[in-house]
Amino acid sequence: MTQPLTPIFDGHNDVLLRLWMKKSANPAKEFLEGDGEGHIDFPRLKAGGFAAGFFAIFAPSISTRTPDDEDLNPPYDPEVPRKQAFQSAVEMAAILKAIETQSNGGARVCLSAKELRECIATNRLGMIFHIEGAEAIGANLEGLEELYRDGLRSIGPVWSRKNIFGEGVPFRFPSSPDTGDGLTAAGKALIRECNRLRMLVDLSHLNEKGFWNVAELSTAPLVATHSNAHALCASSRNLTDDQLRAIGRSGGMVGLNFASGFLRPDGLWTTDTDADVMIRHLEHMVSLAGEDCVGLGSDYDGARIPGFIKDAAGLPRLVEAMRKSGFGEALISKLCSQNWLRVLERTWGA
Ligand code: ZN
Repeated sequence: MTQPLTPIFDGHNDVLLRLWMKKSANPAKEFLEGDGEGHIDFPRLKAGGFAAGFFAIFAPSISTRTPDDEDLNPPYDPEVPRKQAFQSAVEMAAILKAIETQSNGGARVCLSAKELRECIATNRLGMIFHIEGAEAIGANLEGLEELYRDGLRSIGPVWSRKNIFGEGVPFRFPSSPDTGDGLTAAGKALIRECNRLRMLVDLSHLNEKGFWNVAELSTAPLVATHSNAHALCASSRNLTDDQLRAIGRSGGMVGLNFASGFLRPDGLWTTDTDADVMIRHLEHMVSLAGEDCVGLGSDYDGARIPGFIKDAAGLPRLVEAMRKSGFGEALISKLCSQNWLRVLERTWGA
């Protein structure tokens, strides 16, 4: 007898960017019917038990790319002008809405933890509207309330570049996450406003100074949706032990990033990466942040991931690896979905 699928709550994917870049007449339809491209579409997500997750909207610049195996220190991305970022955000948000509309109740943009729980219980896809890099928002936070009204519930202030809110961490290996200055005054105002709106602030692409600025300022749990342990892979994108402890103390969350370049001790972007290294990151993060504060954050369609998982349909192979490593069912359930639901309830309110 085959085991029932373990429902997965995922902290990060970039499918909206992938669909937007296709420039086809109806990308939502292609997602729902399954285009078989990249890592994630509706049929493969169903096959893998992917029940809910953050769907990122990312303002691309011309140099946006998946890193090469060889290039451990790619160039810093330039800032995207606000008009261009807002335009692409609106277009990607429209794809997200279209997925909901065309799914005939099979997928829903969720605004509360209650809605997410309902989706999981009724076997519908729960989607969270997230922005990765706040270039679409102005220095006086113009556009933020509008996006909130449109369903935005999570925001990463900066991606791997500078903007008016602060400095994102550029991809560097080996490197500490301490790569530049912290949040600007506008960045701090953005955090306060997110707290007021009860919008989640994602720390995954912030550099270390920015992370500690948020830790000092924010009244919400600290959340890094898709990051790993720096002690095991010395990428600038990963979190130090002190950062992981701070996440745990705040009752926050870190989602395991499947990107091989953020997992492997040698930092290489190769798909020839096995489950053991992912298990070691999970164990390390649980040992520092605590078993209530760790989950998954795949980075599907945004990174090169281990070949044994391959795509969203391969999630059960990661769950199987957890079982083989002696993780109990209660811990697996926390890591796969319950912890994300708990932290969203705390951040957004019940
Ligand atoms: Zn990312």
